Amino acid sequence: MFYKSTRNSSVRVTSAQAIAQGISEDGGLFVPESIPQLGADELEALGKMDYRQRAKAVFAKFLTDFTEAEIAYCVDGAYNTKAFDSDSIAEIAHLFEGTYMLELWHGPTCAFKDMALQILPYLLTVSVKKLHSDKKVVILVATSGDTGKAALEGFKDVPGTSIMVFYPVDGVSAMQKKQMTTQEGGNVGVCAIKGNFDDAQNGVKAIFTDKDVAAKLSDAGMMFSSANSINWGRLAPQIIYYISSYAQLLAQGEIEKGEKINIVVPTGNFGNILAGFYAKHMGVPVNKLICASNANNVLTDFINTGIYDRNRDFHTTISPSMDILISSNLERLLYILSDGNDALIREWFGKLASEGRYEVSDDVKQRLNEEFSAGFCTDEQTKATIKEIYGKYSYTCDTHTAVAVKVYKDYKEKTGDTTKTIIASTASPYKFSASVLSAIGEDTDASEFELVDKLAAASGLAVPASLAALKDKDIRFGDVIDKNEMEAYVLKTLGI
Ligand SMILES: *Cc1c(COP(=O)(O)O)cnc(C)c1O
Repeated sequence: MFYKSTRNSSVRVTSAQAIAQGISEDGGLFVPESIPQLGADELEALGKMDYRQRAKAVFAKFLTDFTEAEIAYCVDGAYNTKAFDSDSIAEIAHLFEGTYMLELWHGPTCAFKDMALQILPYLLTVSVKKLHSDKKVVILVATSGDTGKAALEGFKDVPGTSIMVFYPVDGVSAMQKKQMTTQEGGNVGVCAIKGNFDDAQNGVKAIFTDKDVAAKLSDAGMMFSSANSINWGRLAPQIIYYISSYAQLLAQGEIEKGEKINIVVPTGNFGNILAGFYAKHMGVPVNKLICASNANNVLTDFINTGIYDRNRDFHTTISPSMDILISSNLERLLYILSDGNDALIREWFGKLASEGRYEVSDDVKQRLNEEFSAGFCTDEQTKATIKEIYGKYSYTCDTHTAVAVKVYKDYKEKTGDTTKTIIASTASPYKFSASVLSAIGEDTDASEFELVDKLAAASGLAVPASLAALKDKDIRFGDVIDKNEMEAYVLKTLGI
């Protein structure tokens, strides 16, 4: 299996190269040149395995340049009960008849980003070794809140790496900020920028693709890589939990062999839902992929009209990890839906950069409609949904997951579709205690950790130990910089 760049189909690299590099030199993203297949019998067989065995089977199809022992080393190191508070790694909870919550937040930082960022440091260090490079890998991360902490926790004190995280100064929750600014480890750095997530992401992308910076780094014995979902090493692990959850529901008799399901994903950068798309095209029977957005509904409009237009107001919402107007992974989807037409991708993403807008071709629009349904909701609707499912089903969900539940309910009402459905539950409600408590009608005039105790009393959910421990930790990182100072900041921190 080789990987191509979405902006130049003649670039062809191994998975180790794609993961080590993060992004192609032409600014494109790496995609597998074909989608490996998973037969119905194979899917059934996976149902009898545990999460680690399923992960090994799926990785073997994508990382064909890795040995079985290398894959086992990565998987066993990442997915264990030292890091996850559940031996099933991803839990499935029943919300109501035929609707399953795929809880992806049982890892060390309590958001779904752990599913990929616990294993990415293993994949990356093995990849670099396979390429016979002795360069130190410098990970740059732009975060809307959850990726940053998950990446810091994954890369903390990993030999041969260092990591630097940029987050929007007013764009993350109190708990997310506390998680990042108290981060421990000798190879980590965290810095706030005056701007939003898109500014942080653009800044990081610009540093990555700057040839002068790359040369300076190389002279100093270092190389950049990415822990954002532009890195294939982030996406591949996310495909696994969709396959795993389908196989598990099959083994439990919740669904029948070959039965189609819907997958609903609360979306920002389009990474998590794209992983669902890959799972579908590998062979998981999927009816619709339902893309759920908050008030930053650029993807809803895109899927419904084929016009991507980021020229609109940016909203700061109670689901901050989805406050994004430039969804990077859409580039991978459009490359696939246009049958690998790199010229079209260059044209569209060139227009996105220069005019903030592009319109896809009619056949791509049609394929988008066949695969996806999309909707969005406001903060008020998100809160009403948290309250409703808390009252009706005694299930406490976070603000991002609630967006998905609301969009799914709207979809069901509009279409009458009764297909069984998996909803990606992307964060622990404890990461957004104030919003969740206020949604269920509790007073929130208290400190963050008093709110945590209050939420524990209201929800009956155990407080994740990693969040409780933050209470007594000191702030280590307080820098706030302008968005155009990021490159200088990186070079200064690296001492070059
Ligand atoms: C990152 C994140 C999302 C959005 O995921 P994408 O892969 O960017 O679409 C949704 N919910 C939570 C809690 C997140 O942290």
